[in-house]
Amino acid sequence: MSAPRLPAQEGTLFIVAAPSGAGKSTLVNALLECEPAISLSVSHTTRPPRPGEEYGRHYYFVERVEFEREIAEGIFLEHAEVHSNLYGTSRTTVAGLLAEGRDVLLEIDWQGARQIRQTKPDCVSVFILPPSRPELERRLRGRGSDSAEVIERRLHNSREEISHAHEFDYIIVNDRFEDALGDLRSIVHAVRLRAAWQCRRHEALIAELLG
Ligand code: 5GP
Repeated sequence: MSAPRLPAQEGTLFIVAAPSGAGKSTLVNALLECEPAISLSVSHTTRPPRPGEEYGRHYYFVERVEFEREIAEGIFLEHAEVHSNLYGTSRTTVAGLLAEGRDVLLEIDWQGARQIRQTKPDCVSVFILPPSRPELERRLRGRGSDSAEVIERRLHNSREEISHAHEFDYIIVNDRFEDALGDLRSIVHAVRLRAAWQCRRHEALIAELLG
């Protein structure tokens, strides 16, 4: 008896959120180094670039009028206002990568995560917490690329972001970086071991074992 041939499996959509200063981007960049099969979705934003940030690599930096036109055109899978700037994820980019079977990672805020859960309930969401409030403040100030006013706004907004941590599938405390990276990798590995994936990956094996 041969097992039925299964259609190609879409990739998994991972969401990673955190208050500013939790170390989310450093963790995500390290994850992408170890897991090259995951593609990072580059967002659109009205925030001005920080020193060293490049158009198309870190963000698509656009004017607010252009962003608002893009919202009206429906190009975003999700969008939100965060720290007084607009941010959004391109619908077609994400859909194209997932259809190719690639895993896609979105670094977005809790509002965007909530919108994605409604349209893609099979997404996997992770929230990163800092180990303490003083450490969050130290990391935010230590970045050196934001003005005092921006830092204060982000510190103030961190409470709102953290109050939504329970809505996520997983929570990681980023105290020791290596431990937090290990936790993040464990989540990715566990998702890839799900039966839905494994049945496709090991279709021939299962067919042989049933034969
Ligand atoms: P930053 O300005 O520090 O790069 O990002 C500020 C916040 O905006 C972070 O919480 C980040 O995750 C969030 N963010 C970045 N891109 C997007 C996006 O496309 N959508 C949403 N909803 N939030 C985003």
